[in-house]
Amino acid sequence: MNTRLINTQTAKTQMANTRCPCGQNQHYSECCEPYHLNVNTAADVETLMRSRYCAFVFQEFQYLLDTHHPDFLNGLTIALLAENASSTTWLGLTVDEANQTANHGTVTFKAWFLHDGIIDAIFETSQFERVGGQWFYTTGEQKQAKLPKRNETCICHSGKKFKTCCLKKIS
Ligand SMILES: [Zn+2]
Ligand SMILES: [Zn+2]
Repeated sequence: MNTRLINTQTAKTQMANTRCPCGQNQHYSECCEPYHLNVNTAADVETLMRSRYCAFVFQEFQYLLDTHHPDFLNGLTIALLAENASSTTWLGLTVDEANQTANHGTVTFKAWFLHDGIIDAIFETSQFERVGGQWFYTTGEQKQAKLPKRNETCICHSGKKFKTCCLKKIS
């Protein structure tokens, strides 16, 4: 077992008693884990989006591929996902808006991360399609996210001010 996998397992064990990284006030075991283990299928686009963010955090790359519409993969592989993951630390997710009809949905979110000493977010409106009763990510339109001000609440949902929390990771 390589170091990355050990670290992921350790993170999951520690996570068992804390809030799920997706931002819901539930333990991972009762929140996103059943989706990652294929015990459950996300019933709505926001849940799918949260479980996909959580899969980035825990490097559940197969889940990311399995919930990505095959027509929209554009050559995405587990190797490519793993390459990007090694240098990214995920800090928190904020879902701004989620809408869905029977077979189509959108979620606008900010997924905050630390990369190369810089805090930034994937600020995206994602599109989802339901095929055979299951939701799949198709494409996303990205926007520029603005960092909170120093005295504003931190992006990681700690409840602390940004300057006394995640901002310390870069200063
Ligand atoms: Zn979750
Ligand atoms: Zn923080």
